[in-house]
Amino acid sequence: MSLFPVFIKLEGRPVLLVGAGSVGESKVSALLASRADVTVVAPRATASIAKWSAEKKLRWVAREFRPEDLDGMTLVIAAVPAEVAARIHDEAHARGILCNSVDDPDRCDFYYGAVVNRGDLQIAISTNGHSPALAQRLRQELERQFGPEYAEWVALLGSARQEMFAAAMDPEVRRERLHQLAGAKAFQEFALGNASPEAASKGKVYLVGAGPGDPELLTLKALRILGQADAVLHDDLLTPDILELIPASARVECVGKRHGERQITQDEINRRLRTYAVAGETVVRLKGGDGTIFGRASEEMDALRSAGIPFTIIPGVTAASGAAAAAGISLTDRRLGSALVFLTAQRCKGNPPPNWKAVAALGGTAAIYMPGGHEADLAQQLMEAGLPADTPCIVVAKATQADEQVIEVTLSGLRDMTTPPAPALLLIGVVQSDPARLEQARENTGKRSTFY
Ligand code: SAH
Repeated sequence: MSLFPVFIKLEGRPVLLVGAGSVGESKVSALLASRADVTVVAPRATASIAKWSAEKKLRWVAREFRPEDLDGMTLVIAAVPAEVAARIHDEAHARGILCNSVDDPDRCDFYYGAVVNRGDLQIAISTNGHSPALAQRLRQELERQFGPEYAEWVALLGSARQEMFAAAMDPEVRRERLHQLAGAKAFQEFALGNASPEAASKGKVYLVGAGPGDPELLTLKALRILGQADAVLHDDLLTPDILELIPASARVECVGKRHGERQITQDEINRRLRTYAVAGETVVRLKGGDGTIFGRASEEMDALRSAGIPFTIIPGVTAASGAAAAAGISLTDRRLGSALVFLTAQRCKGNPPPNWKAVAALGGTAAIYMPGGHEADLAQQLMEAGLPADTPCIVVAKATQADEQVIEVTLSGLRDMTTPPAPALLLIGVVQSDPARLEQARENTGKRSTFY
């Protein structure tokens, strides 16, 4: 026997609840939300039910159940011990009233489904009593999939639909438009702050930071957008664990510098972003760390802006934060200094080198990106600029990844260090200069840290 699924309009209809303990109370709120005319019959009631009665949200009759309580009722819920529930069920049945005897499936004409409530969007789940546990799990999964923002989204869709029906419109065009408005892309636009479901159907680019490698360091937003991507263009820094999160339906292109035989130029990446977006695709430009830190994001944004293509930046956890976490240090420490600077050892042709004197005088931490192969040079420059030879440094390779390495050295030790596996980041500065760490750094020069 299969159940007949319905959503009933109970507004103003008389509904009887027998029993006002905690189980009864748990059955009442959904009835009140649907504006049913609720009568509760029970000698005693929970504080909440008594309060709702005092507030006239329901009527509480403080005595035992009598068969005539059923007169005129649309539904009855028996939240009482089994023998009493059986009697109520039989009386209700004789009168043709549907009855729910809590916890007694054989005496239920209807069930309370597990429900995902998002305003006017309701998703109800039933297993016909076979597995309430499964129903709960499905509810939780659906709640994650359809977040609270769906309440507003559904309301918006409702008003857009009303407007379309009010306007003279070809029914076929209207039907098509309504489907488009309810589509995944339109929702995505809405969820990212563009409240108009109309602005939906064009392609768009998301510049997404994927964090330093651990897939759990992806933001929820990044994960959600990845799930909606038609095309994903990623660089070399992306770990296989993160790439696995891209749905099979998306086209994945590695555009990293080290990929394949042919080097893909920045111009070519910009061209692909534009072409795919103009074709109406949802394009994710996926970068390691935070895309706006040493990630050429501004060149891509310029290219998109000049083509009139909308884009959204989704920030990520930058490598310096990942490295600090791996090394167990804070990037700033007000007791030791007041600055944190992100630097790179690489630079565009024609750009001046960093002002090493300023870095040496910083009184804080310098996080040096892309130090690979330049360690000795960097150490030399910083010492010449005035940093003491035993300034503690931490090199973190593959931060937040399974094979991460944390190496503590002094600045002079850095000169003799073999280049660690890529990607690696170099942290230099006062924050790490407590005496115990310094001692360890001296001992450890060139070796894996034994701090943790
Ligand atoms: N946009 C990235 C940085 C890109 S530049 C971010 O915000 O993190 C590339 C450099 O980042 C690498 O050479 C290395 O210095 C650093 N890096 C990226 N991921 C790293 C990781 N997991 N561990 C250590 N360094 C990393």
